[in-house]
Amino acid sequence: MTSDRRHTGPGPGRGPGPSTLAVHGGGDADPGRAGDRGASPAIEPSSVYTFPDLEATRRAFAGESGRPIYARFGNPTVEATERHLAALDGAETAALFSSGMAAIALTVLALCGENGHAVVCSELYGGTVGLFRELERSHGLAVTWVGAADLHRAGAFQRDTTRVVFLESPTNPLLRVIEFDRMFASLRSPRPVAILDGTFATPLGQRGLEHGFDLIVHSATKYLGGHDDLTAGVLSGRAEPVEAVRSYRRVFGATAEPQTAWLLRRGLKTLAVRWERQCDNAQIVAERLVHHPAVHRVYYPGLAGDPGHGPAQTQMRSFGAVVAFEVAGEEAGAERVYDALRLVQRAPSLGGVESMILHPATSSHRSLSSEERAGIGITGGLLRLSLGIEDVEDIWADLEGALPGP
Ligand code: PLP
Repeated sequence: MTSDRRHTGPGPGRGPGPSTLAVHGGGDADPGRAGDRGASPAIEPSSVYTFPDLEATRRAFAGESGRPIYARFGNPTVEATERHLAALDGAETAALFSSGMAAIALTVLALCGENGHAVVCSELYGGTVGLFRELERSHGLAVTWVGAADLHRAGAFQRDTTRVVFLESPTNPLLRVIEFDRMFASLRSPRPVAILDGTFATPLGQRGLEHGFDLIVHSATKYLGGHDDLTAGVLSGRAEPVEAVRSYRRVFGATAEPQTAWLLRRGLKTLAVRWERQCDNAQIVAERLVHHPAVHRVYYPGLAGDPGHGPAQTQMRSFGAVVAFEVAGEEAGAERVYDALRLVQRAPSLGGVESMILHPATSSHRSLSSEERAGIGITGGLLRLSLGIEDVEDIWADLEGALPGP
């Protein structure tokens, strides 16, 4: 993918481009803003605010004054980061959570109601699969699990009680791309709330709301924070469903901390350059892995032969920075490669500046049975590589050194 496509900058009469939004966010990028503020936003650590009198207290609790009250309800630093994230996703509003899982769990709980039904892609981060299973078991949520290859006809699984359709694209860990236009064309009215976990694409790689999604969730722990030093989640989208989830966040107590929100905003400022380098590194490594004799198969939508390449070209701005590949020798073969790496970190996450490798069958997708893993293509020989921002030749030398020769 050319860099022209990644940097769809502002044209005449259009708003700021994605890199500008990543640095400045929305409202705070107003060029007319007061010149006496620091370039780095201030942090407001207060967990509680004081009132001059009862009338001010009354007005604050009635939502009439906009005064902050208590950090679990909202905090100025958290709200500034929320505005920044909403601008980046092109959303009406955004809410920040203590983790990606908190954002997903409370969104599903708030929107599914009693006896609700959800159409859920069966190819998801293992933790999210576990969440939906738990809600099926303990909350009476009815779930229809649909494989990534069938999700473009989600409407065929829709019921009168279907409240949400939930998916990732690209999926974790096999980077499958769901065809959004076909999926939306299949949904009947009244349409369920369509929720996309956009973690693997970031708001720079994919504008899910422009494709018809009502809500986007991201694990901000990954690319948005970008430095493996914070845990947070974000929900962005139309105001009405986000507000419904925000009130759940308040009573469940899953609001992000001000310090975390501040650190996340600092991370966002470099998102565009990190993402560009990470995607470039992924493309180069994926193309080389394809030709490596010890690699059976490479999954990356940036490869011309990948089944997701066509849809990714139309609905993504960049192909992402995670590459999955299957090595010869099944689990023992994967173990040898995993253990032999020296630069690439063995760690169960993605999206940070450090390259990381993960063995899905023993970590992110461990809770699935071996039959379930086999059903979606997660074999013992599969490794998931998250490309960092290191020099690609160093990453490649590490991989080449760990992979067995011909
Ligand atoms: N969504 C995806 C696609 C993920 O990969 C993860 C975690 O790996 C999550 C959500 C959960 O995010 P968090 O760990 O911030 O709760």
